[in-house]
This record gives sequence, structure tokens and C-alpha cells, in this order.
Amino acid sequence: MRLSRYFLPVLKETPSEAQIVSHRLMLRAGMIRQQAAGIYSWLPLGFKVLRRIEQIVHEEQQRAGHIPLLMPTLQPADLWRESGRYEAYGEEMLRIKDRHKRDLLYGPTNEEMITDIFRSHVSSYKDLPLTLYHIQWKFRDEIRPRFGVMRGREFLMKDGYNFDLTYEDAMHAYNRHLVSYLRSYERMGLQAIPMRAESGPIGGDDTHEFLVLAETGESEVFYDSEITDLRFGDRAIDYDDVAQCRAVLEEFTSRYARTDDTHDAAAFEAQVPEERRRSARGIEVGQIFYFGTKYSEPMGATVVNDKGERVPVHMGSHGIGVSRLLGAIIEASHDENGIIWPEGVTPFHAGIVNLKQGDGAADAACESLYSALKAKGLDPLYDDREERAGAKFATMDLIGLPWRITVGPRGLKNGVVELTSRRTGESEELSADAAVDRLA
Ligand code: ATP
Ligand code: MG
Ligand code: MG
Ligand code: MG
Repeated sequence: MRLSRYFLPVLKETPSEAQIVSHRLMLRAGMIRQQAAGIYSWLPLGFKVLRRIEQIVHEEQQRAGHIPLLMPTLQPADLWRESGRYEAYGEEMLRIKDRHKRDLLYGPTNEEMITDIFRSHVSSYKDLPLTLYHIQWKFRDEIRPRFGVMRGREFLMKDGYNFDLTYEDAMHAYNRHLVSYLRSYERMGLQAIPMRAESGPIGGDDTHEFLVLAETGESEVFYDSEITDLRFGDRAIDYDDVAQCRAVLEEFTSRYARTDDTHDAAAFEAQVPEERRRSARGIEVGQIFYFGTKYSEPMGATVVNDKGERVPVHMGSHGIGVSRLLGAIIEASHDENGIIWPEGVTPFHAGIVNLKQGDGAADAACESLYSALKAKGLDPLYDDREERAGAKFATMDLIGLPWRITVGPRGLKNGVVELTSRRTGESEELSADAAVDRLA
């Protein structure tokens, strides 16, 4: 993309309504525009990052054997009357009437609808196990939408639902989700710690939330500092291997780590030596639940087992806050000049800064660099505007691309360009070809 033809409405002023750094930077970098409280347009740069996060989530869910589908944003109220949640859900639910005065709602989550799909099409234990998921917009009429996309009213969520014959099978689905979430967050350059949590309005027995440690987090958390040394890394995993998934769960959840809802001071002190006890703030970026037959029983989602008996299926639901993740990643990765995107989610792989637009040699070198990077399958952003070098650097720092290639007449006389890492600030002079090879 050439910046002169792109739509990147960066703001010079720091927006006064934004209280936390990720919100400020998303506004300043021209990623989002608020349309109403907690409702945003995703401008091109923000949309690109959102799509990359979504892509990682899709890849990791499908790697775990989970199947994508797409349910609508609007749901009939009758489904929620069947589960008893239409009244119970309260003011967070946006209720709508159509022209025939039928009650609809903008889905805050999809347990009822997926259970309806399941009961309509599945009737034998032979069709299990089954996990279906989608990535779809949700609406929750949050009492206090704030912090930009972190607590929106309309927000993008991946929600997945497992259907299993037995408790044991459902726990395997739970563990599979835990593993796939660890992989997903790490690919986004994040450490998200599974913590024991309370189940809330979805209702459930076993549940973990995934928290990114950050001062601006809305949750208070307590944990054993050893937990921050754990990495999933690129270890091989067989998602059908029950023992292997179980071992990952044990590795990542055996140390004390809880949100304030479930925190137990006495247990914390008994289990964790004083020097390893930490209390901090965290951002909830996902949650996994096992809730058994809570929906399958009232809604009649049953299968016939191998003895010919009709039994309700064991279910769980598993969510990732796709749009909230942009805020969480920026909270975890920025400096005073702007965002620092992890490679896994960056909107462009590298920025090319032409120090002297209109100079024949500099223009030609930038054009050839731009083509060479694209030929390698990379997505560069070429700042070809007639702007001062300082302004171009400031824009690149603000939007946070991991690499900047600076091209100017002086370097070109010596056959070099400059490659700069956004994260370390370190620069290196090398030939344009070598720079391309480095990034490819
Ligand atoms: P919170 O405690 O922050 O209100 P939640 O526990 O109500 O979140 P879940 O029902 O667990 O949310 O939904 C799954 C994920 O969706 C959450 O872990 C979070 O990352 C994301 N999410 C929930 N509410 C919002 C929101 N208002 N804006 C953006 N993302 C959200
Ligand atoms: Mg909530
Ligand atoms: Mg929560
Ligand atoms: Mg939650």
C-alpha cells in the first residue's frame, strides 16, 4: 500500500476522552472511530489488525478440530424463553421488536441458538464429539462502556460450543480449548494466564478466564509469580490425545492464579511462598466453561446412546474477545511514541520511508524495494508522501510496524538503506536486497 493513496486519518492531538493508552493510540493512529457510546467503525488500519487476529483464532480453532459456522446477530426471543434466560439476562440485553411486533434480541452470546441447531440436526451419539464455533458481532448494553474497544457495547467475539456424550469427553473439549487458546494468544505476542474464575450469567461449574497482566485491567488478580515463566511455545500437540491435553491443563493451572471473584487469601498464603505472591490487574481476553446439561436439558438437546437411551448432551462454551484483544495487545506493547505491533498481528509487515520524495534515485530505490517485498509475499506500507522525514518517522512510530526501511540519497550513494526495529530502536545499514532477505 502507498500511504499517499491509503486512508490513515492520524490525529495530531491526543484525544481527551480516552483514559487509557490503548484507546488513545487507536484513535491517534486512525484505527477506529466512535459512532455511539461503545460502538465503533473500524477504519482501514484497525480493520486490518482485527482481521489478522480473527485469522489466528480461525487457524487455531480449526487446528484443534473445531468447526466454523456463522449464526446471525439477531435472535428470536422465544429461544431464550426456552432456556429461561430472556428475563434473567437483564439490562445488558438489547431487545428489539420487528414490524410484526415479534420480540428479537441482538445476541450477547449464542448458547441457545447453537443448542437449537444441534437438537434439530443431531440425534445419535455417533455424531459426537462435536465442537462448533463462530466469530460474530455481539451486543451487550454495558452500563459503562469505556476504554475504547476494550469494553464496547458492540464487540467481536469468537464463541465455540462443544457437544459431548459424557462428562469426560466434555472435559477433553475443555482442555482442547485451553491448549488452543494458549497457542492463539502466544501467536499474537501475548501472555494470557488461565485463572480460576466464577461463571457469571452463563452458569457453570468449571471455568477459567485468560488474563493479560496490565495496570489498566479491570480485574484484580492473585497469582504465583512462577506462572509467568510458562510458555506453550511451538511444541507439537495432538488434539485427539486426551492425556496430552490434560497434561497441558495441569501444567498451566496447577499453580495458584485466581481473579478476585474466587480468590481465597488463606489458600493463597498456604500454597504460595511469600516472595512469589503477586497481586495485579488483568484484562480478560477469553474464558472457557463447562456447564454440563444446563441448556441441553431444558431445550431438549439429546442423543441416543449405545444402549438406545435418550440422554442430554454435555456442553461447554468458550469465548475469545477478538476486538478487545487489539486494546490488550497495545496495552502490553507500546512506548511513548506509539504502538509496537507483535509480528503476528501487525497491519503491515514493514514501512518504507522515502527521505526525499521526488529524488530520482530515492524514488526508484523505494519502488523496487516495494515490489521486491510484495514479491516475497509481504505487505509493505510505502510512505511516498511529500512530507518531512520527521513527520514520516513519527507516523511510522505511531502506527507501530515492526520494521522500518529508510531510503535516502545519501545512503544510496553508498549502496545502503537503513533497517530499524520498532521494538529495540536498533538500526543497521545494509543493501536493499539484504533488507528484503532479512524480512522475508
Ligand atoms: P467482562 O468480565 O469483561 O464483562 P465477560 O466475562 O462478561 O467479560 P464473556 O461472556 O466471558 O465476557 O465473553 C467472552 C469474552 O468476550 C471475554 O473474555 C472478553 O474478552 C470479551 N468481552 C466481553 N464483554 C466485552 C465487551 N463489552 N467489549 C469487548 N469485549 C468483551
Ligand atoms: Mg461482562
Ligand atoms: Mg468476566
Ligand atoms: Mg467472562
